Amino acid sequence: MRKEKARILIVDDEKMNLKVLADLLKEEYSPVLARSGEQALQQAFGEAPPDLILLDVIMPEMGGYEVIKALKNSDKTNHIPVIFVTALNSIQDEERGLLLGAVDYITKPFSPPIVKMRVRNHLRIVHQYKLLDQLAHLDGLTEIPNRRRFEEVFHKEWARAARNGTPFSLAMVDVDFFKQFNDHYGHAMGDIALQRIAKALDCVLRRPGDLVARYGGEEFVMLLPETDAFAAYEVAQRCLQQVVGLAIPHQYSRAGETVTISIGLVTKGIDAITAPQIFIATADKNLYLAKENGRNRIVESVIG
Ligand code: GH3
Ligand code: MG
Ligand code: MG
Repeated sequence: MRKEKARILIVDDEKMNLKVLADLLKEEYSPVLARSGEQALQQAFGEAPPDLILLDVIMPEMGGYEVIKALKNSDKTNHIPVIFVTALNSIQDEERGLLLGAVDYITKPFSPPIVKMRVRNHLRIVHQYKLLDQLAHLDGLTEIPNRRRFEEVFHKEWARAARNGTPFSLAMVDVDFFKQFNDHYGHAMGDIALQRIAKALDCVLRRPGDLVARYGGEEFVMLLPETDAFAAYEVAQRCLQQVVGLAIPHQYSRAGETVTISIGLVTKGIDAITAPQIFIATADKNLYLAKENGRNRIVESVIG
């Protein structure tokens, strides 16, 4: 998954210790150095947070225990594994470090190969966790985000739109006469059609905040944050065109010669107050109307 070197933040008030650890790790990783607890937090909360932190305990002003408490207190940094590297070598010290949330505890003087291996092991765990997290949020067939991912992003974006007073649009997308398609061309062809449709929908989205997910079966959902009704309609139109453009023959559709989709679109205006359930139900209702009105079309409405 990751191509560039992992960033390891090394925190120690002794210049010599920083150098030894940096030299030890620089071949495999990209070390970032901090000479105080304050500098460590600046790095951890900065633009490019580290993948792992090697943290000294005794430092003037802000010590390592204080640093880890601050890191564990924030959603932005609490997942970063911290390994204490310290001269404090009693069982109680180690227990305290681990209780505060460190993943490991190394005492000075340390053995360089052991430090290397422990760093590698903890990075591997992080990597595997990230992969697992990604897999848990992807749809197996189409490899686009699944419904679980949609729910998470939707609630975040919904709250953000409310906070910032920005418009918000959502499209429910459903393949037309797909049961007929499966019945005549077979389930395997149906699967391929769904994969191609997913890719086509994904290609239409251009903004970083946009999301298309498989909602279930032959139904997809598109999130369009900070998108007003006009812009959302344009996106929806492009989706219809893209799917028609795939030119997947569908002799048994009454909506056209090829596979088509219908879209129920809803936009929440800047000042609109509505519940998320009502917002989604409106998109569903519009999708139903698009089907009723002949399919391969969009029905939209604006709340507020
Ligand atoms: P409408 O135009 O009203 O949407 O009609 P429809 O036939 O598309 O709707 P219906 O809900 O009756 O049928 C949906 C079909 O989608 C039935 C189901 O077998 C098919 N389907 C759902 N998920 C998958 C899938 O993962 N793979 C395949 N091949 N087919 C699927
Ligand atoms: Mg359908
Ligand atoms: Mg359906």
